[in-house]
Amino acid sequence: MAETIPTTMGAVVIEGPRRAARHWVPTPEWGEDEVLIRVEGCGVCGSNLPAWEGRPWLRYPLPPGSPGHEGWGVVVRAGKQVTSVALGDRVSFLSDRAFADYATASPAALCVLPASLAKSPFPGDALGCIMNIFRRSQIRAGQKVAVVGAGFIGAGLVALASRVGAHVAAVSRRPWALDLASRLGAKETFVMGDDDFATVRALMDFSGGEGFHQAIEAVGAQRTLNLASQLVATQGRLVIAGQHQDGLRQVDLQSWNTRGIDVINAHERNPGHRVAGMRAAADAVCSGALDLTESITHRFELADVASAFTMLEQRPEGFLKAVLSP
Ligand SMILES: [Zn+2]
Repeated sequence: MAETIPTTMGAVVIEGPRRAARHWVPTPEWGEDEVLIRVEGCGVCGSNLPAWEGRPWLRYPLPPGSPGHEGWGVVVRAGKQVTSVALGDRVSFLSDRAFADYATASPAALCVLPASLAKSPFPGDALGCIMNIFRRSQIRAGQKVAVVGAGFIGAGLVALASRVGAHVAAVSRRPWALDLASRLGAKETFVMGDDDFATVRALMDFSGGEGFHQAIEAVGAQRTLNLASQLVATQGRLVIAGQHQDGLRQVDLQSWNTRGIDVINAHERNPGHRVAGMRAAADAVCSGALDLTESITHRFELADVASAFTMLEQRPEGFLKAVLSP
C-alpha cells in the first residue's frame, strides 16, 4: 500500500538575509505529469549563498524549500501520465525547492538511482556538474592538468582526472583540502598563499615550464580566474567551472590570444544536460570512479539550516560539502 502523505510538511524558508528556519507548509500538489518525492536529502551548494546573504533583487521570504536544488529521495506518488518511473524508485531530481520533506518533479527531471547506491547520499545536481565539467575538459591519459580550487567540485575533478591517467596538480588555500586532493590522486599540491606570482611559478615548474593541457578554475573568483588563466599551455584549455556570481570579470585577452587557448564554459545549466550529468554521476559512483565517502563532510537536519549556511559561508577546516535532510 502506498505510504500516507501528510497534508503539511517541514520546509526551509529563508526569511531574510541570514535568517532561515524550518517552517510547516502545505505539502505540494503534484500534477498529472509529475511525481511527488519524499526527500531524503539535498546538497547545500555554493550557489545558495546569494539567497542566504541577501541581494538587492531578492524578495523575502523565499518560497519554501528554495533554493535547494541538489535533492534526492523516493517517488511516493505519480500522476496519471507518468509511465517512466514507479512508486518506490529512488531518484535524484531537478527542483529548486528541495530543502523540504517533499518536492515535485517532472519525469524528465529525474535520474533513477541504482539499488547499489541505496545507502549513499546523492546530491545529484552537484555530482552531475562534476561529470559535465569533466566531459567538457576532454582530459586524457598523460596530460598535465591543474585544478584551481579543491572544494567539492574541484575534488571530484581531481579524482576523475587522476583516474584516467592525467598528472594532476591541485591548488587551494586550504591545506586540509589539498590533503584530500592527494588522497584522491593529485600528483602534487600547491597552497595558494598571498603571492600568486610565486604560486604560478611553482606550478609552471611542475608542468616542466610549458604549462598545463587543462587548467580548471573551480572557485568562481577573479583571482582564481587570473591564476588558472596563466597556467594554460599554448593551445591548451582553460576550463571555467566556478560559478562567477558576483559581477563582471576582467581577462587578459591578449595573453589568451597569443597562446591560442580554448576557453570552455563548463558550468552550463541546461536541464537536459544536468539530468544527463546526474546519470553519468550515478554510473561513476557505482563504479567507484567517484567516491563520496570523504567529500560529503557534514550533515544537518532541516531545522539546523542556519548552521549549514553559516558553515558554507565560513568554510571551516574540514568542510567540503554539507547535505540537509528532513
Ligand atoms: Zn548546486
